[in-house]
Amino acid sequence: MGRMKELYCQLLEANDGQVPHEATIADLEKMNDLKIYEWREYERSQNNLKKPKNDGIEKNQTLDSHIEELARQSCEEFSYLENARCPNCFNTTLHGNIKEAVCEACAQEFIYVGPSLRFK
Ligand SMILES: [Zn+2]
Repeated sequence: MGRMKELYCQLLEANDGQVPHEATIADLEKMNDLKIYEWREYERSQNNLKKPKNDGIEKNQTLDSHIEELARQSCEEFSYLENARCPNCFNTTLHGNIKEAVCEACAQEFIYVGPSLRFK
């Protein structure tokens, strides 16, 4: 799940927290190969390529809400932030995900604004 999880997280990040409705599993694999995670940019890159129509039913299935939900959950899972220091108490006790974090030592909650932590 590690690689897929990363991919989903990048996909969510690049598309304002949404998994594109038109995206198929095959698209995801291509996006990963191309290292293009923004859907519109990916679509543009695919405009000149013909999409194979019978590329296997499974791979052409769009990402249903169940998969999207799993992706969202895995991206929202809190994990220990190894190199982050709490801006409040300066301990390396932050746990968080790509959007927010909480400090175990002082219980202060933070939210990411770009790459930097802001007090909630
Ligand atoms: Zn703290």
